[in-house]
Amino acid sequence: MPLNKRAKEAVALPCATSPVAGHVCEARGFEMSDSDSQRLATKLIHAGRIRTNLDENAEALFLTSGFVYESAEMAEAVFANQIQHYQYSRFSNPTVSMLEQKLAAIEGADVCRCTATGMAAVSSAMLAGLKAGDRVVAARALFGSCHWIVSTLLPQYGITTEFVDGADLAAWGKALATPAAMVLLETPSNPMLDMVDLRAVCSLAHAAGALVVVDNVFATPLLQRPLEFGADVVVYSATKHMDGQGRVLGGAVLGPKKWMEEVFQPFFRNTGPALSPFNAWVILKGLETMALRVKAQSAAAEAIANFLESRPEISRALYPTLASHPQRELAMSQMSGGGTMVTFELKGGKAAAFALMNAFRIITISNNLGDTKSLATHPATTTHMRIGPEERARLGITEGTIRLSVGLEDQADIIDDLTQALGAVS
Ligand SMILES: *Cc1c(COP(=O)(O)O)cnc(C)c1O
Repeated sequence: MPLNKRAKEAVALPCATSPVAGHVCEARGFEMSDSDSQRLATKLIHAGRIRTNLDENAEALFLTSGFVYESAEMAEAVFANQIQHYQYSRFSNPTVSMLEQKLAAIEGADVCRCTATGMAAVSSAMLAGLKAGDRVVAARALFGSCHWIVSTLLPQYGITTEFVDGADLAAWGKALATPAAMVLLETPSNPMLDMVDLRAVCSLAHAAGALVVVDNVFATPLLQRPLEFGADVVVYSATKHMDGQGRVLGGAVLGPKKWMEEVFQPFFRNTGPALSPFNAWVILKGLETMALRVKAQSAAAEAIANFLESRPEISRALYPTLASHPQRELAMSQMSGGGTMVTFELKGGKAAAFALMNAFRIITISNNLGDTKSLATHPATTTHMRIGPEERARLGITEGTIRLSVGLEDQADIIDDLTQALGAVS
């Protein structure tokens, strides 16, 4: 029997024949999973599910740009917001909705909207509500493209911007003594793993009238929950740990109902940073294993940071929970784990860093992160090349600095690879 014929028959089943409580038996019914009381790892698998009356187990991929209406009257009613119905995948799409519902449940946010990339999430969250004459205060240690938006793009629109050293509370206090519309920060930062005191900065920012946007990519929603420390909006690159297997780009913006509906939604709908349903589906599959991956990769990262710290070729290793990290206490107070990233500095500068990277056999050279494959980057010549030597010096990025995204390989193999590659340095 052709699938669509079977589907029609299933749709026609009377409710009384449904063997399972809550089983969907209406033509356009969806079953939502109720996840309020579930723990994070369970929510990662079940929250936000929309199951059609075909009773599929895995989430359905609605790879469609548009949706149809039974009549002209119905289309009119949908556009007048009298009937809730999908219209066009730039506004919303069922597969993307499942991802949005799941991420909102995990973060504890009112509303989530997913975007095509992490940068679409950051730029939309910023541009949606800012206007000429506004003032933005940002931590200096930002992902390269976020730094460009603050330093270069926003001033083109008449928005004043100011950078502060994210770890310096006095500097935040000084910058936020003047009213501001928005604060943007990242903690732990890329690539030097500096911490920003979320509770203190959110409180200073709110006193200045600012909306606090936190880029929580490095920590993931599993290890740090910015909303609980007072942040208003959380942004992600889903390209990183959420997909976690190097396949697709994606992003997410999570925030309070009023701001999301009144400020973000009109911008999102009309400027079009929407996520592809296919990519949403891949990220949904990635989330099912994220808790396991992040836990294992973080444990390996901590062990690797300890190993690197003991090596004579290395002048310093940075990892949030290392005893030697200057902000260890702050990290422990706002994160439930150190994360999957380790940054270290070779005594021999660029030559040593390049020799090490070229000697790797398992670890690969890539600027991506949060992947199952261990990836190494030389920030000074790649991700942080464009910010220039002065800004790099201010951030502490030297020619010998390497950022390592620890993957899911056997930890002993990664340490063996580092050991043999360090042999090539000395
Ligand atoms: C990767 C990344 C982004 C940008 O995400 P894309 O998906 O590459 O657009 C933003 N912030 C941080 C911290 C990142 O690591």
